[in-house]
Amino acid sequence: MKTNIRIKKKCEYCKEEFVAKTTKTRYCCHRCNQKGYKQNMKQNKIATTEKATKLDIINVDELNKKDFLTAKEAAYILNMSLRTVYRLIQSKELNAYNFSERKTLVRRKDIDMYFDLSLNDINIDKSHLKELINLENSYTMDEVQKKYNISSSALFNLIKRLEIQKKQVGKHVLVRKEDIDKIFAP
Ligand SMILES: [Zn+2]
Repeated sequence: MKTNIRIKKKCEYCKEEFVAKTTKTRYCCHRCNQKGYKQNMKQNKIATTEKATKLDIINVDELNKKDFLTAKEAAYILNMSLRTVYRLIQSKELNAYNFSERKTLVRRKDIDMYFDLSLNDINIDKSHLKELINLENSYTMDEVQKKYNISSSALFNLIKRLEIQKKQVGKHVLVRKEDIDKIFAP
């Protein structure tokens, strides 16, 4: 139903006063309407992002108490993107447990280990690489896993990543105690 109501309003885009035909009119003209609409969309987007960021603020103390963390929490602790965390999990550099397709959990312990190893990465002395590995100065993979409580896949990736010299003797793969001890107990 048409009415004769005339309301003085301020255009939300150009801020000029205009006479509106309905109380709902927000802009003085079609052009301002379009511009204003676009601007609103942009602001809404920013507001949504800010809201999401706020929700992301996680209490680190709480996380430190937990034995298992979600991938998102792990990303927060490691100061990485969620995508990077998933990549590390996929490449088995970071140990993780898939409880379901949507639920990937990372042990707090594995995060600490990943973090420590990344730091130690820089200081590894590789001058011994050409030295011989023998049964007396080496661990088997099983021994390393037991001694340092690391999964075989994590150990495998670690050896690969740090270019640690290894040697197959019979059914065992040996790594020098010195190389391994240096990483875990520098
Ligand atoms: Zn206007």
